[in-house]
Amino acid sequence: MTKDVLVIGTGISGLAYAIHVAEKNSNISIVLISKSNINEGNTRYAQGGIAVVSNFKKDSFKKHIDDTIIAGAGTCDPEVVKFVIEEGHQRVNELIEWGAQFDKKRKQLDLAKEAGHSEKRIVHYKDQTGQHIQEALIAKIKTYPNIELLELHTLVDLITDHHSKEKANRCYGAYVISQEEEKIKKITSKITVLSTGGAGSLFAHSTNPEIATGDGLGAAYRARVLMEGLPYVQFHPTALHPKVKGHTFLITEAVRGAGGKLFNMKGERFMLKNDSRAELAPRDIVARGIQREIENQKEEFIWLDGSAVDKKQWRTHFPTILETCKNLGIELPEKPIPVVPAAHYFCGGIKVNNKSESQLKGLYAIGECSATGLHGSNRLASNSLLESLVFAQRAAQDTILTLQGKLPNNSFYSGIPQWNGDVYSNSIEIQAIKKYRKELQELMTKYVGIFKTNYGLKIAEKRIDQIYKSVNTIYNNNKLTYGLCELRNMVSIAYLITKQSQEISQNQGVFYNHDYA
Ligand SMILES: Cc1cc2nc3c(=O)[nH]c(=O)nc-3n(C[C@H](O)[C@H](O)[C@H](O)COP(=O)(O)OP(=O)(O)OC[C@H]3O[C@@H](n4cnc5c(N)ncnc54)[C@H](O)[C@@H]3O)c2cc1C
Repeated sequence: MTKDVLVIGTGISGLAYAIHVAEKNSNISIVLISKSNINEGNTRYAQGGIAVVSNFKKDSFKKHIDDTIIAGAGTCDPEVVKFVIEEGHQRVNELIEWGAQFDKKRKQLDLAKEAGHSEKRIVHYKDQTGQHIQEALIAKIKTYPNIELLELHTLVDLITDHHSKEKANRCYGAYVISQEEEKIKKITSKITVLSTGGAGSLFAHSTNPEIATGDGLGAAYRARVLMEGLPYVQFHPTALHPKVKGHTFLITEAVRGAGGKLFNMKGERFMLKNDSRAELAPRDIVARGIQREIENQKEEFIWLDGSAVDKKQWRTHFPTILETCKNLGIELPEKPIPVVPAAHYFCGGIKVNNKSESQLKGLYAIGECSATGLHGSNRLASNSLLESLVFAQRAAQDTILTLQGKLPNNSFYSGIPQWNGDVYSNSIEIQAIKKYRKELQELMTKYVGIFKTNYGLKIAEKRIDQIYKSVNTIYNNNKLTYGLCELRNMVSIAYLITKQSQEISQNQGVFYNHDYA
């Protein structure tokens, strides 16, 4: 298959990008692929909303810029922060024109407040903002005849000079597994976009769905694309303890914004001794406060008490949490929720410029898999959906211009070889893959999680290196499976995070090493 544009990932960033390109030029052929169904990804699970300045009487760009830079511990790129926040307003209006609706109060957008924000500025749709945006974008994308959608298609590797014997430092598309056809396809393209989301599944507790295995990052690493800030992994302070539901489930910090309080098993409101802002301190401080309490008290979780949030607000603002907890026997707001911190967001990723271009020509990275400079060492709550929207539009605009320039011709693309190796077979699921995946998650959580030490990082590096070599042996001697594909990416990124964490000698933002305390 040859297309003008290949988009890998169908979350907010991939979908918004494709819509912008298709809106501007209906002759550009676009294929969008997702490794699961089109709906699955981090976007769908976003509860809180999008941080955007819309009440100009009380709020201002300056206030949002200052909040972002303070949360990022002074490591954000000020130019990027400025344009993302200033362009955000227009991008959110566009999203509304495309069919997304947000909660309103007296005909105005109902704005919520989250930790680290000096004003109420989070636009939301109950506690289902992400799902609602995702559905609106999917409906819109299906109206464009020049966009083809391929679900259950998994990126294996990017096609680069290495496959073409060129020396142009360019990306020419990707090899992808078609899960249903059980074969590896070559999709060549003039422009390739990675919008593959984060990698929360590297850790034992994560708010991300299981498919968040850092595949775009792994493929970029193999293609020698520059990455930045990988050790800055943000942990969300409050995820429902997995023992209750079988897996973690996010309890948005808007619950704490509405009055929810944190207690340890002794009934102490321990956040008061960590920070004067207590439960409303920035995420990294609350996550560390909870983790410290769990470790000191040798407990598995702490309590989130939502009894100060009135019943009506629970029903109108947090219906999903209310329903989920009810089904698990936790009657809100009277009963407290058992919560733990969980890996949530990758602040780092593929280094891109202001147009979301990576250092490999023809390859863009948008959304959570990219490092734009907006978040620095710590993301301000609800700034990531905003970042995806702004960079999707910028990348689309640049794509239109790039496609008008000089690019390899069609015969060049047909000369790129097919995937060299055994075809995919779903029947071969090697037991070792599951074992290594679990071990990797445990190692990352124990040694490369919220609290790190130099000694722990060394232990992790040594063992991850051994796993990396074993995974390579499996890869070289077996047919390629979906699970192997994910594990190959997970182990590469785990190794990079562990290695790069040892190069950081200062605690900043979400990064915390006891040896530098
Ligand atoms: C529980 C939760 C709550 C959140 N709440 C908020 C919030 O309130 N506000 C906010 O701003 N942010 C929030 N975030 C963060 C935000 O949702 C994400 O950063 C954002 O949605 C990422 O969008 P994306 O387009 O980059 O990736 P995703 O939405 O994660 O989409 C990734 C896509 O890539 C595809 N993909 C991955 N690997 C491959 C592969 N190998 N081959 C093919 N396709 C692949 C997936 O199938 C998927 O379609 C939250 C995140 C979570 C998990």
